[in-house]
Amino acid sequence: MDHFEYRDGELFCEEVRIADLAAEFGTPLWVYSQNALLSNLREIQIAFADAEPVICYSVKANSNLSILKLMNEAGSSFDVVSGGELYRVQQAGGDTTRVAFAGVGKTDAEIRFGLESNILMFNVESEAELDAIAAVAGDMGVVAPVALRLNPNIDAKTHAKTTTGKKGNKFGIDIERASELAAKVLADGRLSLVGIHMHLGSPILTTEPYAMAVKKGVEIVNEFRAAGHDTNWINLGGGFGINYKQNEAPPAKAFADVIVPAIREAGCRLALEPGRFICGNAGVLISSVTFTKREGGKLFVIQDAAMNDLVRPAMYDAFHRIWPVKPAVEAPDDYEGEIPGCEPVDVVGPVCESGDVLAKARWLPETSRGDLICTFSAGAYGTTMSSNYNSRPRGAEVMVSGGTHRIIRRRETYEDLVANEMIES
Ligand SMILES: *Cc1c(COP(=O)(O)O)cnc(C)c1O
Repeated sequence: MDHFEYRDGELFCEEVRIADLAAEFGTPLWVYSQNALLSNLREIQIAFADAEPVICYSVKANSNLSILKLMNEAGSSFDVVSGGELYRVQQAGGDTTRVAFAGVGKTDAEIRFGLESNILMFNVESEAELDAIAAVAGDMGVVAPVALRLNPNIDAKTHAKTTTGKKGNKFGIDIERASELAAKVLADGRLSLVGIHMHLGSPILTTEPYAMAVKKGVEIVNEFRAAGHDTNWINLGGGFGINYKQNEAPPAKAFADVIVPAIREAGCRLALEPGRFICGNAGVLISSVTFTKREGGKLFVIQDAAMNDLVRPAMYDAFHRIWPVKPAVEAPDDYEGEIPGCEPVDVVGPVCESGDVLAKARWLPETSRGDLICTFSAGAYGTTMSSNYNSRPRGAEVMVSGGTHRIIRRRETYEDLVANEMIES
């Protein structure tokens, strides 16, 4: 959390006062640290360097063009899950020839867009998708590079809504069917089996699931090779956890230690798709207190960020650290449980849903109307999952670098809300 720090009783992002940004751009406001983004990417680049991986930043974690451009310039490639994300990569100047395209429901138009963009590989999630890719590639007279997305039946011990590598969820192909589908690819001149893909879920806080996955992956790649495929890529997806609370997540090096030796021994190319790890702790959501009220024996802090801005608490029961920008009590090491000088409050937004709660029974210092509040670790799956529910315009996004800042998405207006709608005249 070093890029967001309390100094002299107030919160800074790098060398910039958060309160100054809120005064300039209003709230709710997303603030990113450019150096946090770069150092998180660098941590992965360094940890996995011995495997010379292609790191595909997962666009869905945060797809702002400025962030994509920054990632591209720092040597990252991209993982996309839709044609819209591929378009964003193009708009940001990204190299589409190193893009991995995942997703269980790619349309023919998306497949065509991927092939036209010369992407590195499609992560194929079903036999029907293989057929569709073959048909589009045949039409275009090209050979489509495919990686089979395998469901390795590994329990990554994450939230039910974010586990993806366990039998019975919608992702991937059952690992037992891999050879059968590989044979089908071999017999089809429009397809080339360049690798396998697994994405186990997110966020993952232990290394064991990756150790198991890479072992299974290497076995299968060797099977494919024995069957005559030129298969080199093992794409282990993303899912590396981050510290939402304190120090619950292992460093990138710990994941690399269980992955890199196996990849090197097998003589494979490694692809990774980290999203959250890169941007999660590089962004915060700043809001201001609209009202406080005591009702039903509880204290509610009603502030101007809501579930339409950051849906993770409502959707995944996710924990985000929350603390005032200019707190009356020094920020604790542990945000869970009782904190001296504080009282338990429900931090809620103005949206008309009981689920519009950013934090329940959270110990906070006293706040009053107009006080700024920071919700930490909001850089991943914040803006990308946001909506205009309750016709709430989305807040601005600002990038801080050292002592400077620049706006990377302007605040939406009421006009923006209705811009695509027509009424009969
Ligand atoms: C969402 C997703 C990722 C990124 O997951 P993180 O937890 O953000 O690292 C990577 N690969 C695929 C296929 C995904 O769907």
